[in-house]
Amino acid sequence: QKPIIGVSACLTGQKVRYDGDHKHNAIVIHQLAPWLRFRETCPEVAIGLPVPRPPIQVVQLEGRLRVRGVDQPQQDVTDALENVAATLQQPLSGFVLKARSPSCGYLNTPVHNPQGQQIGIASGAFANKLHQHFPRIALANEEDMEKPACLQAFVLQA
Ligand code: SF4
Repeated sequence: QKPIIGVSACLTGQKVRYDGDHKHNAIVIHQLAPWLRFRETCPEVAIGLPVPRPPIQVVQLEGRLRVRGVDQPQQDVTDALENVAATLQQPLSGFVLKARSPSCGYLNTPVHNPQGQQIGIASGAFANKLHQHFPRIALANEEDMEKPACLQAFVLQA
């Protein structure tokens, strides 16, 4: 029985992005599929956001990172996204995460100040909570999977 990993749903071709499109990643699908089974998750859809939807971003506010609407800053979805990660039902061996997303990005998501200027990088709210809550599972952003050594290490860890 192959181990089960989570995958950001847009990487598998599901049209769940804010713009109504997907970000199908053939490397993730074709190179990991012989070794692992996928459980697709879109945290933003899981918290009830529609497709398409207004974009959200990571903002640093008084030293804390929050995920909120680009044009609707009163819309703060940080806690809801973290809750999706903390309440994942099925134990997973790993998770391949969409790069640079305010929800799924792992160590490569732009962080903005309240004025909208980029001031750094961090993880998205879902990925950050996933790492905190399940520190032993293998996490990788999709771009790591394009490096053969990283892909092999991820499969071995999962
Ligand atoms: Fe893809 Fe994650 Fe954004 Fe959903 S929340 S569209 S899975 S990057």
